[in-house]
Amino acid sequence: MRHEQPSEGALAALFCLRCHARNAARLAYRCPDCGGILRVERPLPAGRRWRTSDFVSERVTLGEGGTLMRKVRPDLLHERFHGQLYVKDETRNPSGSFKDRLVAAAVSRALALGAPGIVCASSGNAGAAAACYAANAGVPAIIVCPESTPEGKVAQIAAYGATFHRVPGDYSRSFQVGIELAAESGFANVTTTYQNAYGVDALRLVGQEILDDLSGNVPDWVAVPTSSGPLVHGVWQGFSDWSVQVPRLVAAQSEGCAPIATAFREGLQDVSPWPAPHTLASGISDPLASYPDEGSLTLSLVHATGGQGVAVPDAMILSAMHDLARRAGLFSEPTGATSLAAMRQLFDDGLIGEDDTIVCLVTGNGAKDYAAWRTADGQV
Ligand SMILES: *Cc1c(COP(=O)(O)O)cnc(C)c1O
Ligand SMILES: [Zn+2]
Repeated sequence: MRHEQPSEGALAALFCLRCHARNAARLAYRCPDCGGILRVERPLPAGRRWRTSDFVSERVTLGEGGTLMRKVRPDLLHERFHGQLYVKDETRNPSGSFKDRLVAAAVSRALALGAPGIVCASSGNAGAAAACYAANAGVPAIIVCPESTPEGKVAQIAAYGATFHRVPGDYSRSFQVGIELAAESGFANVTTTYQNAYGVDALRLVGQEILDDLSGNVPDWVAVPTSSGPLVHGVWQGFSDWSVQVPRLVAAQSEGCAPIATAFREGLQDVSPWPAPHTLASGISDPLASYPDEGSLTLSLVHATGGQGVAVPDAMILSAMHDLARRAGLFSEPTGATSLAAMRQLFDDGLIGEDDTIVCLVTGNGAKDYAAWRTADGQV
């Protein structure tokens, strides 16, 4: 008799972080019992590391992830810094941001569960990723973005042939419209906050990759441009899977939209929505209206690792972006450089040792936002 493998769907159950209910794999965005955030539960693979194919189907993958991590000159952080400074270059993903990792997994799961198409509410990068992966998989995509979305991201969404809605108001408004459109269309919602647990689940590969690139040595800090925080969660999970020690995680935000960093500074456990976001870092301009508990989950991971929540002014983000290009050959959008800007701030504040090992995630490509580059060239 042939031995049946337990189906992957049976293994990847959804676990509610609030009421601890467990549900079989399905398309659900919040706990049906209590509305809590869901996390995918899966046993560690026996005798090997995670692979992309644990999360992403062959039909969907475009070779996302496995991005280059490289050492850059330490004085890119500060002239008095003599430790190790690494950048992990997520701009190399197929549509130019780390969102590809999340969307690839979310779309794989959606198609496996029979969804006829996908909806994604986005500040731009997740929408570009969703449009890209839907095009390749041959399924329709509906993308919802705020009016302020940079033209490069809008151009990508159009190029991949998605149906595109530009909605007045900030990202949280688009988020609501995305929920409505998903309900109307019967498509799966692959919006990349914590509400797509299967997408978030695949981000554990980021932590694993960092650990493996450092031959199992745990860095002192990992800095993450942070919106609601699934990427912080992924880094935390990847390290937690394979290492007893987890680096201090830095949630890097812009002063113009800093719900998590502000709660951190004020010593709070609960994150509040941000009233009126205003920042050039479009990828992290999420006020968390109606889902501040997502920010609180991220904040709990920052606290658990002895990390920091940091808000930096846009001027510092633009100069970090400029320096990454000029001194490390790395072309980033503003959001992607927020990690370096935040670590510069922490160094100035005396919170970083001169010999520490730091990893900055650089999350989005500079070609997505030429307007920000024109602003930077005028200012720096
Ligand atoms: C979405 C995004 C982030 C923030 O990631 P979260 O996991 O939503 O916190 C960071 N950088 C870029 C370029 C993004 O598009
Ligand atoms: Zn629950």
